[in-house]
Amino acid sequence: MDNQENSRDYDLLIAGAGMAGVLLACRVRNLLPHLKIALLDRLPMVGGRLRHSYAHKDSWSLGFNTITPELLTFLQRSFSSSPEELPEAEFQQGRQTALSILSGQKSSELFLGDLFTSKGVKEIAGSAAVAEWEKVEEALQFNEEDKFTVFAKKLKLPKNSPIHSLLDLMSMILGIPDLWQATVYSIKQRMDYVSSLLVKGDWTQALQALLQQEGRENPIDFIPSCLIVESKHTDSGWKLVTEKGVYSGKVLAVSQSPWEAIKWLDQKPASTFFLSLAQKCQPVSLVTLTYKLADNPALPDVTWIPREGVQALYNYPGDLCLQALIEYEVSLESPSVVKAVRSLKRAFKKFTYEGKALEASEEFIALHPYAWTQAPQAYFKRFIENFDYAKLNSKALLFCGDAYGDSYNPDRNLIRSLLATCAAIGELEVLKDVKPLER
Ligand SMILES: Cc1cc2nc3c(=O)[nH]c(=O)nc-3n(C[C@H](O)[C@H](O)[C@H](O)COP(=O)(O)OP(=O)(O)OC[C@H]3O[C@@H](n4cnc5c(N)ncnc54)[C@H](O)[C@@H]3O)c2cc1C
Repeated sequence: MDNQENSRDYDLLIAGAGMAGVLLACRVRNLLPHLKIALLDRLPMVGGRLRHSYAHKDSWSLGFNTITPELLTFLQRSFSSSPEELPEAEFQQGRQTALSILSGQKSSELFLGDLFTSKGVKEIAGSAAVAEWEKVEEALQFNEEDKFTVFAKKLKLPKNSPIHSLLDLMSMILGIPDLWQATVYSIKQRMDYVSSLLVKGDWTQALQALLQQEGRENPIDFIPSCLIVESKHTDSGWKLVTEKGVYSGKVLAVSQSPWEAIKWLDQKPASTFFLSLAQKCQPVSLVTLTYKLADNPALPDVTWIPREGVQALYNYPGDLCLQALIEYEVSLESPSVVKAVRSLKRAFKKFTYEGKALEASEEFIALHPYAWTQAPQAYFKRFIENFDYAKLNSKALLFCGDAYGDSYNPDRNLIRSLLATCAAIGELEVLKDVKPLER
């Protein structure tokens, strides 16, 4: 286990340099500036699942780069300078107000606020679906007793009714694989999130700038391309075995989804309660097919191809990422993945630019566990009722990120879990007594 040559000692090890990891590192740097902090990630850059264009094992053009205004404010406040002094380029934003709908080869624009109204349903699923929509709307009327009511029970229609194809499409939009089994509460929460006017920006650059802020007593050591493969908890703290050697820390903060951390985290210490959730909940698989386009055509940011149940994100110029959501799969060979890839390929053929089919020089297929969107009923109920952010943290092990929380709005989970984790770090005796280390 030990590889003395590459060994490094830190006060705080942060596993994962996505949005949560970077914000945590920067907040702790402000809170306890004397701490020696290492931020480790298997990728060569910060940002994690946020949108980026980089071909790496299982990661290429993943994620949107839209966030809620709430998370934007939080991100801006994380810079200690006033917002006017923020690095301009990183914060040039706009609103994500509309999406493009491609049916046949005809495209139309849909305002996000109209997504879950008759107007949106007509645009996405055609006029025939509008009458059915009224029943759905009625079933989605939400009051407090409905918090744990399964949607199918309220809709009171057989699973094979014509409305099914409309609900399949909505499943894809909302990121919930089986709407019939979802609670009314979770569907409503996701609807509010998806149809809110999200903010666009280059958050990866913003996080990079935040990490490298000058004039700090202690820089944060960002260790890129450093896959964590194993960990061990001892009386003196944690040892992380990585592809770059062994890193030691008094405290470990895990800032990645439970289904990732479960692969390498020593599960003997307390607070791994949250990792057990990873096995009981149902992550969703996202199948992505990314094309490097020959030119840089001006395409819409987000396009829906309802017939195929596919959405396409146009990332950095020339990089079109088509995505389909399926129930959880772990293998690229599984029949549902193969079927999804066929839909993605058909959807790509529907795209045209200036009357011509798009040309691609490269294609890249990937499978990602995507979001922790829907938990099984009985378990979900217990989970929501008992959720306590304080439980995220124990003496030497802490968790934060978008999957740690009771909300179907990932940004909200990220903010709340981050604040709880920072507060816990501030209170940890083991870190309060740390004397400044020589660097
Ligand atoms: C397709 C898609 C679309 C999305 N759309 C939106 C959206 O529109 N708006 C929105 O707000 N959110 C969206 N999200 C969610 C958003 O991406 C997340 O909320 C946010 O990025 C989570 O940040 P995080 O830091 O918790 O996790 P991550 O970004 O996943 O960060 C975890 C980091 O840990 C690293 N890691 C994992 N395992 C290891 C290991 N063994 N060793 C070393 N490092 C490791 C990963 O490389 C990663 O960088 C989307 C996500 C996806 C996948």
